[in-house]
Amino acid sequence: MKHDTSHRLYEEAKKLLPGGVNSPVRSFKGVGGEPPFILRGRGSRIWDADNNEYIDYVGSWGPLILGHAHPGVTLAVREMASRGTSFGAPTPGEVQLAQLIQTAFPSMQMMRLVSSGTEACMSAVRLARAFTSRSKIIKFNGCYHGHADSLLVKAGSGGATFGVPDSAGVPASFAAETLVAEYNDLASVDRLIHANAGGIAAIIVEPIAANMGVVLPQAGFLEGLRSLTAEAGALLIFDEVITGFRVAWGGAQQRYAVTPDLTCLGKIVGGGMPLAVYGGSADIMRQVAPLGAMYQAGTLSGNPVAVAAGIAMLHALQTPKVYERLEETSASLEAGLRDIFKQAGRPVTINRIGSLMTVFFRQSPVQNWSDVEKSDVPAYGKFFHGMLDRGVYLAPSAFEAMFVSLTHTPDDIEETLIATKQVAATL
Ligand SMILES: *Cc1c(COP(=O)(O)O)cnc(C)c1O
Repeated sequence: MKHDTSHRLYEEAKKLLPGGVNSPVRSFKGVGGEPPFILRGRGSRIWDADNNEYIDYVGSWGPLILGHAHPGVTLAVREMASRGTSFGAPTPGEVQLAQLIQTAFPSMQMMRLVSSGTEACMSAVRLARAFTSRSKIIKFNGCYHGHADSLLVKAGSGGATFGVPDSAGVPASFAAETLVAEYNDLASVDRLIHANAGGIAAIIVEPIAANMGVVLPQAGFLEGLRSLTAEAGALLIFDEVITGFRVAWGGAQQRYAVTPDLTCLGKIVGGGMPLAVYGGSADIMRQVAPLGAMYQAGTLSGNPVAVAAGIAMLHALQTPKVYERLEETSASLEAGLRDIFKQAGRPVTINRIGSLMTVFFRQSPVQNWSDVEKSDVPAYGKFFHGMLDRGVYLAPSAFEAMFVSLTHTPDDIEETLIATKQVAATL
């Protein structure tokens, strides 16, 4: 595979953009090598600047559950853009999108549209603090909630890939307001709550962790968080930026039947455009300006083009059997991968829920960050490059998820498994 054009672009990019990229994990620092520059995508495939073709399992890190350049989404974007890209005034689409979101997430009685998952989580935390008049929050080791100061503590893949679990530039006094518990460990949460009695504003959690690779909640974990927060007078925030519309139409809260006070959505909800949402029960959301005293705003919030993409996306996901189809494709991929690694004598642990999956290069079960941390990162790097060379584009980090889309066909899976078999033999 030739990468001459990508290489030239990367050299130019590095002069202008830190690391040549606009988001760190794109840089391939976690696996070595240089990133291909992508020109276009269609369905399950992407093409780089040297016209190499790949089967894509990154899917823009989660949004592209319908694959690349979905005709309905593309048309909606074109039509709206031709009428104007932004008005800074209410538009009909915002009402329509909010209504659609509410059919999926009844717990979001009111919501606010924003432009990124970071903004959604940052705002949800501010709102929880405003509502409870408390300052401390609890998050989980390995969960990522965007890059706002108070959430950039032990934040999973990005930091882990680069060996900076806690970012420079976050004042210790801010970080001190963020307490860190272990995922799937209710006792660690209980201890923090008791040591800070009356001080916890909220627990924020990825109900299915997907930013340290995919780690599923054990039976009772989410229910436990629900009862612990209720007892402590703290809010429970589900960060469903990845899981919303991914693991079910109604996200993890539907799948596990646990209702949070606040929910953050992003990625899929924007159809691949910059759009995210936070929302929850009306009494809490009434604290948000202009109704209440919690200030949060955005020039491009509820951007009409992004909203049009989101509406088209959600409409497409209302097609019957969509999640059954995703399950079928993903299950066949998982079964094939399991088989291949077993035959190759290479121990792996595969965590999967629906179209969200991670192959950990580690034999024992992976249930929290300390398990994740023990996986064989160099082996993943070799696997990653072997797959890339064979036209399969995986996340350039051992601590990320694979995203299967509705456009991945049985042929794509077959091709992926053939490549895997060849690569597994070299590990
Ligand atoms: C991606 C992600 C975010 C941040 O969203 P951005 O749009 O990248 O700011 C927050 N939480 C979770 C769970 C995510 O996966």
